[in-house]
Amino acid sequence: MRTTWLCDFDGTIARTDVGAALVERYARGDRARRRALAEAWRAGRLGSRALIVAECAAVRVSHDEALAFARGVELDPGFAAFAAAAAGRGERVEVVSDGFDFYVRELLERAGLGPLPRSANRVRFAGDRMIPGFPTRALAGACGRCGNCKAAHVARARARGDRVVLVGDGCSDRCAAPLADQVLAKGALLRWCRERGIAAQPFDGFADVERIARARAGAVHHADTAAAPAGS
Ligand SMILES: [Mg+2]
Ligand SMILES: [Zn+2]
Repeated sequence: MRTTWLCDFDGTIARTDVGAALVERYARGDRARRRALAEAWRAGRLGSRALIVAECAAVRVSHDEALAFARGVELDPGFAAFAAAAAGRGERVEVVSDGFDFYVRELLERAGLGPLPRSANRVRFAGDRMIPGFPTRALAGACGRCGNCKAAHVARARARGDRVVLVGDGCSDRCAAPLADQVLAKGALLRWCRERGIAAQPFDGFADVERIARARAGAVHHADTAAAPAGS
């Protein structure tokens, strides 16, 4: 059975949350109201799609400025090596982000990882306005409240017959965590899983993820060999 790794972008592949930092830097107006909306999202009272719409309405930034801002973000130095090793094992690594495709694409391409399958929310820049779009909102299995619901991506991988491992750090991973076959978590996601009794293995970065992946691949290989009839 093939493994699909569903990897969160902001705070997981990227060391920081690019989308949140962009909003923090370029939003105008009522900061207390923005904080209250983000808090409602963290508490599960507000879906990310509504949050993103509200945040984009407050932001004033051009495409060029937003890209230049995003380029300052570093990726986890172990991610490229993990992606290459996983491909070598015949596994699928998919980037699933509830942030925006313009910076996910830019940062992956700069790291030579442009060809990895990915999904994220869209944004159209009109002068200094960001107009969000949600191309995956109606996918089967989506909760209807997220921008890019990761539950739908678990469902898609399952439909291909894959075993799904989720790698993530935060609120945008919550819809997928109870559905994935295995969860690798850090930060707020790890606490959230533990509070709910969802099995989650802690990790720090993709060097850890690769160690876990190698151990798993070895165990699976060993089990397959052990289960094979003698002489086969
Ligand atoms: Mg994240
Ligand atoms: Zn969702």
